[in-house]
Amino acid sequence: MKIDLRSDTVTKPTKDMLEAMMAAQVGDDVFREDETVNLLEEKVAQLFGKESALFFPSGTMANQTAIKLHTNPGEQVICDKYAHIYNYESGGASFNSGVSCKLIDGERGMFKAEQVLEAINPEDYYYSKTSLVALENTTNKGGGACWDFEEILKIRQVCAENGLGLHLDGARLWNAIVETNDSLDQYGKVFDTISVCLSKGLGCPVGSVLVGNADIMKDALRIRKIFGGNMRQGGYLAAAGIYALDHHIDRLKEDYKKAKEIGEALAKLNQVKSVEPIETNIVIFELHDDADDKAFVQKLAAQNVFIISMGNKKLRMVTHLDYSDTMHNKFIELLKLNKL
Ligand SMILES: *Cc1c(COP(=O)(O)O)cnc(C)c1O
Repeated sequence: MKIDLRSDTVTKPTKDMLEAMMAAQVGDDVFREDETVNLLEEKVAQLFGKESALFFPSGTMANQTAIKLHTNPGEQVICDKYAHIYNYESGGASFNSGVSCKLIDGERGMFKAEQVLEAINPEDYYYSKTSLVALENTTNKGGGACWDFEEILKIRQVCAENGLGLHLDGARLWNAIVETNDSLDQYGKVFDTISVCLSKGLGCPVGSVLVGNADIMKDALRIRKIFGGNMRQGGYLAAAGIYALDHHIDRLKEDYKKAKEIGEALAKLNQVKSVEPIETNIVIFELHDDADDKAFVQKLAAQNVFIISMGNKKLRMVTHLDYSDTMHNKFIELLKLNKL
């Protein structure tokens, strides 16, 4: 039995999801005639109380489109030093939109409204013009941490007072919602654009959605085309998204319970120096200075358990839909042996 905890993206469609995909009504989405894609977009727009939504092949493309919608070349985006848009999108912000990032030294990928205020460039012409603030919830590199909505409201205020756009990389926003009991509608009210992933915790094979109001979203379709993101009978994929939104959100709590139990077991291991607070489905832990992280990963792999190294003796595990109770029990037993 292979236990794959490298990411929540490794899931495969369930039988019921596959059936929903097979039954989808499709058409050519380049003519905007795929009714299942249209349905998914309407559904997600409605969840957030936004006027418009667009289906994307990846979260990266959805974020990159948002950055392009909010900025002109030469301008600057404020984000955390851990941000996915800065670290893990291949430098796309500069490649696609010609913008730079002003990094905030936040805490687990999150920051305060005052830090945003400090990061805004003065008006003088020789500065890069600050045009966008981007948040991430839950934070990926920050270990699945959830933002405090009160802080988001303060940041919204700073953006409004300084004429800045506000984007949310909500690849794992579903995870945050289930943990905090905040509502998607609440998020829709404060952010200008939000990207969400269907292919992580929700278990779809492919897909992300970008939402916003009509004014900001009016060029999204053209930009997605420029990025090569047009799909034809995308309805087969969109059907998986609709199915996941209806069936796979509430169950995310099971992933958190397992993640917390893994964290507790890890904390007792000799090589483990610390385990970061576990709020959702991501477990980040650090080995002692004299421990060998590569060897640790390899020893687990030899037991058919797969995790990833984040460098600097930090390792990551992510629980998900395909990480079953049986796998979990087996893995916990393995950790309890303390022989890694
Ligand atoms: C996974 C992820 C994305 C997008 O990833 P894709 O692999 O392009 O779908 C964006 N932001 C965060 C925080 C992510 O974890």
